[in-house]
Amino acid sequence: MNNLPSQEIYKAELRELYGESNSEILGRLSRILTPHATSIAKIFYQTMLKNEASVTFLSHELIESRLSRTMAVWITELFVPKKSLPDIEELIIKQVQVGHIHARIDLPMSLVNFGMRTLKASMSAHIQQKNLDAETESKCLILLNALVDTMSSLINDSYVTDIVVNEKNAQAFRMQVSSQSLAFDFERLRTSLLDWTRRILSKLHEEDIDKSTVPTIRHSDFGLWLTHKGSLILTGRPELKLLIEFVSDANALVEQILALEQHNSANEHFNRLIDELNEHVSNVSWVLGNTAQEMLDIDSGRDSLTHLFNRRYLSTVLHHETECSLKTGMRYGVLYIDIDHFKALNDNYGHDNGDTILQQFAMYISQTVRTGDFTFRYGGEEFLIILADITQEQMPTIAEKVRALLDGAEFKLTDGKAIHLTASIGAALHDGHPDYQRTIANADKALYLAKENGRNRVVIHTN
Ligand code: GH3
Ligand code: MG
Ligand code: MG
Repeated sequence: MNNLPSQEIYKAELRELYGESNSEILGRLSRILTPHATSIAKIFYQTMLKNEASVTFLSHELIESRLSRTMAVWITELFVPKKSLPDIEELIIKQVQVGHIHARIDLPMSLVNFGMRTLKASMSAHIQQKNLDAETESKCLILLNALVDTMSSLINDSYVTDIVVNEKNAQAFRMQVSSQSLAFDFERLRTSLLDWTRRILSKLHEEDIDKSTVPTIRHSDFGLWLTHKGSLILTGRPELKLLIEFVSDANALVEQILALEQHNSANEHFNRLIDELNEHVSNVSWVLGNTAQEMLDIDSGRDSLTHLFNRRYLSTVLHHETECSLKTGMRYGVLYIDIDHFKALNDNYGHDNGDTILQQFAMYISQTVRTGDFTFRYGGEEFLIILADITQEQMPTIAEKVRALLDGAEFKLTDGKAIHLTASIGAALHDGHPDYQRTIANADKALYLAKENGRNRVVIHTN
């Protein structure tokens, strides 16, 4: 009937709750609560609406037209005897469907649970008003609690199952989108962004701006892509946050410009805001280009700038090395290398020069290590070398050799001018722990210390 893992548990539990021994109490609950079902439902939604988080999901209109009635029916049905298995199954299906709906509208579970607590409290109050004898009252309250709790649990189980399935599907979808097509999308987005920029700039320079004709970034191809496709495809990537921030910044800037009295280059403030908008656009355009390139690179397993391995196979290599290390006792080491003050180099000589230097840097480090070692470009100006079969005693010598080579090397700018560069290195030996991420984290800690202690140096991680 559905893919809830714990069906059988619920069936058994509900057969018990709706069993012979509870039938009298169930009848009593029905007589007490069913006449008030409508008012209980109303009070329920009033309470929910007081909770700020609910407002996104509930409107007065929706409550009036549908939800109140559905809730009243739900309450009434809860106390109708269920004598056969099909009755029980039908009840389960209904709760599962409620969970499906909650998942579809992304209703937070905390809100559902809050609602159920509210419901229990108001139904309990009705029971307590009846002045039943102590034993009957407590039996009524216990059964009521058990019934509502089981329904909540069913609804929540179904909700969670759906959320997990959705997440898996979203992941599968992300993998379906090939890097090639994404790179192509990104190129089109850059064009669309520039097109928007051209239109907005010409608009903002008009004398009397008719605000209804201002092209908003949110409704541009770029904005639509970001809201609908980008947020799904780029989930978890830092670029997503950047792009979203850009849209809100660009919006704010346009608003500010529109609010100005004078829209022309004679106005200093106007010029400054226009410059700022242009700068935002060119940054985002760079991010788009870079992300597309990165995605293509990751697909190929090699970094296109340096031709070193990229992160794609890092986990495969480390997994393999860890296995070897655990089996043979021959450890491997990680050198985490980060170029010193690379940002300044970019700032002084430009990105093109930065790229050229990165290529030379990669060449130097890959030449110093043995052919059995792996060299990865880990991120922008960060590199990892995986040294096979190595001891704690050998590590400082090898790491220092790499550092000294870089320190002594000549790096050439595009115009032929030679510059000097240094790097900091954090090193860690695999300590026999099956989780290889620990070794990288240890090397990272050591690198941090190398930077802290003045850069252009090696720090070896010790336990
Ligand atoms: P530190 O000594 O603390 O490492 O300083 P840093 O400037 O090297 O470190 P930071 O992390 O602040 O800056 C790294 C810079 O590397 C920023 C980024 O623009 C640049 N970068 C990253 N990837 C690339 C690339 O592919 N090409 C170029 N040209 N620059 C890059
Ligand atoms: Mg860095
Ligand atoms: Mg650096």
